[in-house]
Amino acid sequence: MFYQVSKEDEYLFKGKRRRLVEQLKTKGIKNTMVLAALEKVPRHLFFDTSTARPALLDHAYSDKALPIGAGQTISHPYTVAFQTEQLDIQQGDKVLEIGTGCGYQTAVLIEMGAKVYTIERQKALFDKTKLFLPYVGYKAVKIVYGDGYKGLPQFAPFDKIIVTAAAPYIPNDLLLQLKVGGMMLIPLGEGDVQEMIWLKKTGPTAFDKKVLGNFKFVPLLQHKSG
Ligand code: SAH
Repeated sequence: MFYQVSKEDEYLFKGKRRRLVEQLKTKGIKNTMVLAALEKVPRHLFFDTSTARPALLDHAYSDKALPIGAGQTISHPYTVAFQTEQLDIQQGDKVLEIGTGCGYQTAVLIEMGAKVYTIERQKALFDKTKLFLPYVGYKAVKIVYGDGYKGLPQFAPFDKIIVTAAAPYIPNDLLLQLKVGGMMLIPLGEGDVQEMIWLKKTGPTAFDKKVLGNFKFVPLLQHKSG
């Protein structure tokens, strides 16, 4: 059902990943745990296998956003590395991810020892990724088909929250589900380009906030889709 690569391919992709990590370092990523995770996770296996596979595989380790089906994309490796680095992920962190997509960011977080709860609103992507992640050896605590605007109150609070789609506003439910002392990263804006917002919860209703530059994400849409 899922794409399999030969041993020689594996060797080739390892080299490509090493080069990608060198590129990420030159772009400013410093956290060695983040770099090690990106060097380990086989990004070429996460694409939509129903589209032109060889062409996509060729680009798996270039710093690009690529299609994963259902009109969605896998985030740029730099974006994944940047968000993960800014969240200061620690072994054992309880992390809520909004926008599972193909599960690449999920796998990077799990690779770093985080306990990941992740939500996807597209049923087809959810169904696929729920099977795919354990198939490639990455076990999330929960993969939920639902609306990320609402978060997962039944599993709150979370040490970290990462939103991987562009939100028009910061959902209040997510702020409530963050632990005091916890951090959240969310791309904010409705235009072509969004600002990456970093938040730290300093008290039940108090937050520190920083704007960390511009990024491009697919929109965070309201409600589940069939
Ligand atoms: N984390 C992914 C990014 C996928 S793109 C990666 O590693 O590449 C963003 C994803 O967010 C898409 O799959 C999209 O369907 C999903 N999404 C958009 N709005 C959502 C919402 N309200 N709740 C949950 N997922 C949502």
